[in-house]
Amino acid sequence: MEFLLSLKSLVHYFLHFGLPLVIALLFYRSEWKKAFLVLISSMLVDLDHLLATPLFDPNRNSIGFHPLHSYPAIGFYFGCLLFTKGYYRLFFLGLLLHMITDFQDFYLWNFLLKK
Ligand SMILES: [Zn+2]
Repeated sequence: MEFLLSLKSLVHYFLHFGLPLVIALLFYRSEWKKAFLVLISSMLVDLDHLLATPLFDPNRNSIGFHPLHSYPAIGFYFGCLLFTKGYYRLFFLGLLLHMITDFQDFYLWNFLLKK
């Protein structure tokens, strides 16, 4: 159990910080810092947690609960990913990666931890 909880944190932080760094280094080699910042800036989407009470609840799934984490919002991000270019597209990719991170945080780990 302890091991799984540590692994959950490791996966969470890797998806939030490590994966954007890998993407920036692999696909934006000469401008990796800018690409990394654009990807990381998509985490501002978590500002919608400020509207919720309590701010953080480990037993609540962000996806489908917070306005910027709603399914229509995710559909919008996906559409923007398809119809934008350059760093805008990268920003929407960051948003979708964020949603995947939050999604696996809840469903995958609740399943593995048998919650
Ligand atoms: Zn989130």
